[in-house]
Amino acid sequence: MVELNLNNPEDGGWDRRAELVANLADVRARISAAERVAGREQGSVNLVVVTKTWPADDVAVLADLGIVDVAENRHQEAVVKQAELDHLHLRWHFIGQLQRNKCRAVAQYADVIESVDRLELVAALDRGALEAGREIALLVQVDLQEPPEPHRGGAAPADVDELADAILASSSLRLTGLMAVAPLGADPQPAFDRLFGLYSALKDRCPSVVVMSAGMSDDLEQAVCAGTTHIRIGTAVLGRRPRVG
Ligand SMILES: *Cc1c(COP(=O)(O)O)cnc(C)c1O
Repeated sequence: MVELNLNNPEDGGWDRRAELVANLADVRARISAAERVAGREQGSVNLVVVTKTWPADDVAVLADLGIVDVAENRHQEAVVKQAELDHLHLRWHFIGQLQRNKCRAVAQYADVIESVDRLELVAALDRGALEAGREIALLVQVDLQEPPEPHRGGAAPADVDELADAILASSSLRLTGLMAVAPLGADPQPAFDRLFGLYSALKDRCPSVVVMSAGMSDDLEQAVCAGTTHIRIGTAVLGRRPRVG
């Protein structure tokens, strides 16, 4: 049987680039509509595309279409893609649960680490960034589950200040904001509103804080309504993931 290359339109297969163009247009239209509904300025919400599980070829197409911010959640996968696409000047976000023994490696290539939820990670990332001679932007991940469920990732809201202070006291890390995922099985709107409250309070005391990262394919409208500055979109741009990620 002849193998079809589905990425090659000359094979009569589906055209991946055209699909990504169409999906991006849909997502941008949703963002724009949500900004309008929320009474927010057009273009005030930044798109981070979550490329986990998708090949480097897709990421290269996205870069060619003007995407700068891409996010990965597994070190083993991210390190390979970043190395392959190093020439593209993408901004790599790490959004997965971090192990302390991976911090040094992640600090070599990540530009933004959004999933910092424990003090031991701050110390390990600071050592890694210093060693790599890089400054890394950090977001504290907040657990919006009520009550908090630590194993899903994220610091309890009550622990955000302590983590923020540790990052502010570090030598090679810059505190830029807060990240969260909507709670499971609950309305995302009040949860995102709570995150915005934490973000505003942190921003008031730390001038480097400019990022609230919330909203995914299914709940970006609620995040924009709550005041998020960044949304992290995977499925709505790239399609259903071929495997769990
Ligand atoms: C996978 C993932 C996303 C993207 O989710 P989609 O529903 O595919 O848009 C966003 N944030 C985090 C932390 C993720 O792990």
